This record gives sequence, structure tokens and C-alpha cells, in this order.
Amino acid sequence: MTALDLITLLSQATYVLIFLLVAWSSVRSPTPAHLDMTLFFGILAFVVAYSRVAAAIGFTPPDWFVDALIVAIIALPYVLLRLLDDFTHVPVLLKRAAEIGVVAFAVVLFALPGSALPPPVLIALVVYIAGLFLYSGGAFIRAARRAQGVTKRRLQAISLGAILFALEIVASGGSSLLVEPDKTVLAAIGQVLGLVSAGAFFLGFAPPPLLRRAWQAPELQYLLTRAASLPRLPSTLEIVRELEKGAAGATGSQARIGLWQEDDRKVRMWTPVTDAPYDIEPGQLLAGRSFEEQRTIFSADPIKDDPQAADIYRSGHIGAVMAAPITAGERRLGVLVLFAERPPIFEVSDREITQLLADQAAVILESRALIDHAARVRAREEATRLKEDFLSAAAHDLKTPLTTVVAQAQFLERKAMRDPSAPSDLQGLQRIVREGQRLAALVTDLLDAARLEQGKLVSDREPVDLGALVSDVVARQHPGAHAHDLDVRGAIVGNYDRRRIEQLVENLIENARKYSPAATPVSVAVWQAEGEAHISVRDQGIGIPPADLPKIFERFSRASNVDDRRFHGMGLGLYICRGIVEEHGGRIWAESEVGKGSTFHVTLPLQEGRRLN
Ligand code: ADP
Repeated sequence: MTALDLITLLSQATYVLIFLLVAWSSVRSPTPAHLDMTLFFGILAFVVAYSRVAAAIGFTPPDWFVDALIVAIIALPYVLLRLLDDFTHVPVLLKRAAEIGVVAFAVVLFALPGSALPPPVLIALVVYIAGLFLYSGGAFIRAARRAQGVTKRRLQAISLGAILFALEIVASGGSSLLVEPDKTVLAAIGQVLGLVSAGAFFLGFAPPPLLRRAWQAPELQYLLTRAASLPRLPSTLEIVRELEKGAAGATGSQARIGLWQEDDRKVRMWTPVTDAPYDIEPGQLLAGRSFEEQRTIFSADPIKDDPQAADIYRSGHIGAVMAAPITAGERRLGVLVLFAERPPIFEVSDREITQLLADQAAVILESRALIDHAARVRAREEATRLKEDFLSAAAHDLKTPLTTVVAQAQFLERKAMRDPSAPSDLQGLQRIVREGQRLAALVTDLLDAARLEQGKLVSDREPVDLGALVSDVVARQHPGAHAHDLDVRGAIVGNYDRRRIEQLVENLIENARKYSPAATPVSVAVWQAEGEAHISVRDQGIGIPPADLPKIFERFSRASNVDDRRFHGMGLGLYICRGIVEEHGGRIWAESEVGKGSTFHVTLPLQEGRRLN
């Protein structure tokens, strides 16, 4: 036996083996796709088996038999077209034309005497066979590009099969034109191509379960390894999209996830690309039915199984649907729907994978719900804490001056009633004015804090000379018990909200005065360095304990060394200062040593083009 004989025998045996395998799957589940596969490999197996047997026993077939054999071979590209139709859309007109072609050639063949065909018929035959093969091969390649996951791999294998099949025909045809030894070499190449092509067709059309699982594994694994991080994605829609991508990749179909909306009692889905939401009722479409009945549904003919929604399936080219409910324990969370153009994209084992994917989605969505719930609880707690902070601060700090104002006013009222002609009590009135102003300042702080929450503290900006602004603020201070040093180096101009920067500087100077003993100086400096404006306010006061330093810029926060009875305050001033600075794009911080004093630093951006270094 020569090497060529061996290769020929091997490839022929492979065809027969593959035929037996697909015939067996047809017997087990006689779907149109399985029957087409059986027909395809049946023709190939029959042709090779016949030629071998006929050569072995020296059988000379009658004319009709040869004609029938040729018709079977002519039908091969038509069967391939049917197989293409089992996987993706093929125009009806083309299918009918291909059928008419087979019948027409058969009629001509049987009508003509002998087996030699006249040249025009021969040319038409070659065009017919080559045309259909090229069309199917191209369509499989295009479908493979569109598909994903396991379906992509199957269609790639089929495309490879089609290309190799075409090359095999070229090689076999070419070898008959050559002389030895090239003839044998090309014939051998043709046989090898045929062998590989048959294998590729088989793997693509009817992949053994083991291979199918291996093809699905990377996508499944990718999804499972990402499962832990998915619940923390910024939005639920992003989680849904990731799950859809994973499910589509793992099953080689298209995937959509619907989420149950308890309030509307509907299942919400989102269109791809535009993210537009749309709702379906429980029971509506096969997806809604799977959700309502809480079971996995597979339909190889959705138009027949759900005629009410036939238009939707038709217009969406949906030829097969697999839907599984997403449920965590008793909680119905939604539904996972997989759909494909044609049923053979799915296999029986996909049912389990779909359920697995739906369960995985349930775990992920459930933990997302828990994270959301925890965030809501935290936000509620924070809001409650804020309210409590506010109430205690307001109750304490607003009540003290208010009590003074009311008591003082009542005292003056009684006095005036007793003796209307008595001279007015100037000191009492001054006290009312002072406490009233303090009250007004506290209310202003509260309003500013509320504005800061909405990020609306800073408004109109204009070029401001920071040195001049700080000098004005310092000049306006009552000297009182404190001396003020001022050090302004150069013209420092930035785009600021003048009123707010004044408020910031006033606040820092007021604090420096408030928290330092009489007669100690307060030093204010303004300069520019490293492309930023700098302001510092230094005092020689009580200082801030290190543990409190990071907290003093927070709302209602006061350092532990501050005695409420001695130093009035609500702990909002620095919070507002930080808001003003940060809304301007700057930074604020403090350095301090208890008993020695504190320095507050502020940096602000300079006006563009004014940065000197
Ligand atoms: P308030 O002065 O109303 O308490 P602030 O927000 O202005 O609120 O300040 C927060 C806290 O920071 C103060 O309660 C005080 O403990 C501390 N603090 C602020 N400025 C100084 C300073 N110059 N020296 C010492 N402590 C200060």
C-alpha cells in the first residue's frame, strides 16, 4: 500500500465515521439541522464508500446509477446551503433557486443518453456548484464574524471546512491534469485537505459535548472570576451589561437580562447601545413567561410557541429562545433571556449553563442589592446624625444669645412700662444688638453650610488682588487686645469670589483672636510660590491637640481643648472656610502645637498667565 493509498483510506474512513456519528445524533434528536448534516455527510460517505467497493469488486455500474451519483454530488452544495440556513438567515429566493437547479440538472442528466454532458450544461454545472459553495463559505465567514463565544468557534470551524473543501476540489481536479510524480503529490494533498475539511465540518456542525464545553469554558471562567467585583460596579445597568456580555459569550447567543420592578410590577430591560428602558409584563413574551412560571423555557420555534408576539420574533430574526428566571431564594429578581437566529446554536447542555448563569446573576444582583441597602442605611444614619448634630448645635448656640436678647428686651420693656419717661438703658440696648448680631452670624453660618452641601457657596468670580483684599480685612479689624502683623509680598492676582475670600480671611483672623490670649499678636502673610497664592494666619494661642487636627475642618467639629462656656462657637467656621477654598480649587490645612499656637495655611490658584515661577 502506498502512502497515497493510506491517506485515501484514512480520509474515506473518516467520512464514513463522521456520517455514522451524525446519523446517530439524528436518530437521537431528529432536528432539521441534524438531518441536513446526516444528508451532507451521507452523500460524501456514500460516494467514497461506493468508489472503493466498486473498485475492489470490479463493479461496472449501470448508467442510471452513475447519473444518480452525479445528482447526489450536485445536491451537495445545496445541502450546504440548507445547513447555512440552519445557522443563519438565507434568502428564500436563493433556496428555491438552488432546489430548482438540482432538479433541472437531474432532469437533463437522466434525459441525455450516456454520461458525457454537453459543454454548456457542464459550464452551468460548474458555475452552479462553485457559486453555491462560494456563497455558503462567505456567509459562514460573515456569520462567524458577527457571532461570539462557542458559536463563533463553530462557525469558524465550518468556514475552515468550506475553504478546505474548495481547495480539495481544486487539488483533485488539478492532479488529473498533471503527470507523475506531481500527480500523486497533488492528489495526496487533496486527500489531506479533504480529511481536515471533513473534520472541521464535523466539529463545527456537531461538536462533541467535550469540545463544546472546552469552547465555552474561557467565557464562563472569565465571568465567574469577575463575579466578585461585579456587584461593586457604579450602576446596576453596568452590572446587567456585564452579565449579558458574559452570558452571550458563554452560550454563543445574544443575551438580555430583565430586572423585576416591584413598584410597577413589570420586568424592565434595556435596549443595547441606547440603554433605553422598556418593560414587559410577567407572562408576556417567552421571557415574561419564564419569569411568571419560574422555570427555564427553551423554544426552537418562538413564533409557534408564542404566536401573540410573532412580529417581534420575526423582525428580530429570533429563531430560538432560552429563558431562565433569576431568583435568589424566594426573591424573584428578574429573568435571563438568550436568543439566537436558529435553534442549532443551542444544545441540550445549554439549558444547564443558562440556569447556572441565571443563578450566578442572582447572586451578583442580590449582593448588589445588599450593598445598595447598606449604603442607604449609612446615608440614613448620616442624615440622622447630621440632624442630631444640627439640633444640638442650634439648640445650644442659638438659644444662648436668644435667651439674652429676650431677657434683656423684657427687662427694658418692664422698665419702660413702669416709668415711660426714664432715660433709655444704653448698655442693655447694646447687649441686645451684640447678641442679636451673634445670632445673625450663627444663622448665616448655618445657611452657608447648607449652600456648601449643594456646592453653591462660591458664585461670581473676578480678578482679585489678594494682597489688597487681605490688607483691607486686617485694617477693618478692631485692634482690641491683639496686634496684627501683616506681610504682603508682591501683587497676587487670582480669579476669586471676593466676598467669600474676605469671609475666609475674616474667619481665620477671628479664630486666631478668639483662641489666643489677649496681647498676643496675630500674623497674617500673603505671598506666591510654586505657581500658587499662599495665605497664612498665625497666632500664639491655645493650639489644637494633634488628634483633633484632622477633624477641625469637619461640620460641627470642635477641638477637645475648647471649653464651650469660654469659647462660643458651633464648629461651622472652618467647615465653611474649607468649602470656600476647595470650590476655588485650593487647599487649606493647619499646623499647631498645644499651648504654643496655630498656623492656618491656604493656597489658591493664581490667575492664568500671572504665574511668575
Ligand atoms: P468654632 O470656632 O465655631 O468652634 P470653627 O470651625 O471655626 O468653629 O473651628 C473649629 C474648631 O477648631 C474650634 O472649635 C477650635 O477647637 C479649633 N480652632 C480653630 N481655629 C483655632 C485657632 N486659631 N487656635 C486653636 N484652635 C482653633
